[in-house]
Amino acid sequence: MALQIRQFPCLQDNYGFLIACSETGACAAIDTPEPARILEEARAAGWRLTDIWNTHHHWDHAGGNDTIRAANGARITAPAAEAELIGHVDLAVKPGDRVTLGALEAQVMDVGGHTLGHIAYWFESEGVAFVGDALFALGCGRLFEGTPHQAQAGLARLRALPGDTVIYCAHEYTQANARFALSVDPDNPALTAYAAEVERLRSRGEPTVPTTIERERAANPFLRWDDANLRARLGLETAQDWQVYGEVRARKDAF
Ligand code: ZN
Ligand code: FE
Repeated sequence: MALQIRQFPCLQDNYGFLIACSETGACAAIDTPEPARILEEARAAGWRLTDIWNTHHHWDHAGGNDTIRAANGARITAPAAEAELIGHVDLAVKPGDRVTLGALEAQVMDVGGHTLGHIAYWFESEGVAFVGDALFALGCGRLFEGTPHQAQAGLARLRALPGDTVIYCAHEYTQANARFALSVDPDNPALTAYAAEVERLRSRGEPTVPTTIERERAANPFLRWDDANLRARLGLETAQDWQVYGEVRARKDAF
């Protein structure tokens, strides 16, 4: 596998990710939550950090760009729709674009909602996607900028990826997400089993990230807008998919 991934905790509950092409040695940071830590991880791995790939403009994702760029001249790739907010963007990308890192290629996906221009990077042939704050293990990002309609469309794109796609999300929120998920979908056996595993992992201080699309499809209430049991529980049997998603989001915000 040409794609190598290094995952490490940053700040309170973020994850930092470094990705590298084993054929060429090119290395990118997916977002920049804690620049000193990211530079140290690259050094420890012996990787030459040439690129930053941002998913969205929030400070815990793009706030370390300038520090890393000042240290090594890294080239910044970021969503065109948020380039002004992020600043110093070298390559502004739009949904559908392809970005390369050495011999690796990722597709840019529109997962707007948490922020309007939020993107994900999908390495199709490697079966891996970096989704920032758009989708979390058993959760999804808050709608700071977009509408439920927009966010559900973005999540539908992620949900349609092959089931074995490995999903790297940017925060360790899974334990709290699981408690909420059980409150809206308590009779889902895939969720109860997943939640028990999360408790086990977190009690040992282990990460619950990455996850997979298949796992999330089965248990994440933010991806189950067409599930009859969940709809019945919410009293939304005949609602539009985005309305079911929106109701789950609203309940989580009030949880
Ligand atoms: Zn964010
Ligand atoms: Fe974040």
